[in-house]
Amino acid sequence: MTAVQYGSGTLRPAGERRVDLRSDTVTQPTAGMREAMMAAPLGDDVFGDDPTVNALQERVAGLLGFEAALFMPTGTQSNLCGLLAHCGRGDEYIVGQMAHTYRYEGGGAAVLGSIQPQPLPNQPDGTLLLSDIEAAIKPDDAHFAKTRLLCLENTWNGNALPLGYIEQATALAKRRGLATHLDGARLFNAAVASQVPAREITRHFDSVSVCFSKGLGAPVGSALCGSRELIARAHRVRKMAGGGMRQVGLLAAAADYALTHHIDRLADDHALAQRLAAGMAGIPGLTVTPPQTNIVFAQVADGRGAALLAHLAARGVLATGLIGLRFVTHLDVDAAGIDTAIAAVREFFSHPA
Ligand SMILES: *Cc1c(COP(=O)(O)O)cnc(C)c1O
Repeated sequence: MTAVQYGSGTLRPAGERRVDLRSDTVTQPTAGMREAMMAAPLGDDVFGDDPTVNALQERVAGLLGFEAALFMPTGTQSNLCGLLAHCGRGDEYIVGQMAHTYRYEGGGAAVLGSIQPQPLPNQPDGTLLLSDIEAAIKPDDAHFAKTRLLCLENTWNGNALPLGYIEQATALAKRRGLATHLDGARLFNAAVASQVPAREITRHFDSVSVCFSKGLGAPVGSALCGSRELIARAHRVRKMAGGGMRQVGLLAAAADYALTHHIDRLADDHALAQRLAAGMAGIPGLTVTPPQTNIVFAQVADGRGAALLAHLAARGVLATGLIGLRFVTHLDVDAAGIDTAIAAVREFFSHPA
């Protein structure tokens, strides 16, 4: 089979039209993004000399209403640096049982920071019950770890946390002397879905981590935002974690480009998720959760999930099946791709199990 070159370096079979809905991390940098990366002035960021990194950090901090920001290679490292900047050895953070910062980061806060997680059940909308939070805060007593931090996630499984809830939960934390951290890997999806500027969400938190490599379409990168003091502490942790990078303006330029060009268009991804959910609605054996942002979950009856994924993959449609079937829309998917996915799903269910 002959091959065609997509962007730089990715070889795919000619004529194949892949609809990759596994994640919004699979996007290729656009031509404009690549140009911005190539044109970026660079320096050694470990010396604080990279003008593109410095400009991005100032921009993100300003955009989200914080004193300072720190560019990070990944969201995992960004959350880790945030948690370790808030908590010391023997401290505790309250977090969702299904939150990324608890479940999907290799236990880093505990392993590397000796911070005890206090996981609480996530409600179906991603919130933690205020009564659960209240009850989990330990008294100041030698028996207990010191409860220091409340960590929320927005979006959570594609759900935008209600603004009223964020206000109440962070007010409770403040009242009880806890700091607050937001894992905002997909913060801008939440802001677009909630039709508010992102800082309307972030202003309630002491620190926020955002990802440029998810729906914003950059190849790499996250940022941690907080007070100057907190970011100075996080900077030490980042170095310790091996995240001190040199001419990294090359990547910061992609993030900067994404902030300029790829926030408002998240509404298109959300519309495509709606289109996909609508197209899959009403199929017997398939239960589709109406999406709020760019992630569509579906439950398949009778254990046919793996067979459906294989059927889709054979037709060039990729999805994941970790917690029910998951389809994620993004920059590199269009309406035709979504219709291909819908047709393939319908074809599968037109044959009896
Ligand atoms: C993707 C993601 C992260 C960070 O993941 P990395 O792959 O380390 O960049 C953190 N939290 C949530 C909710 C995420 O979706």
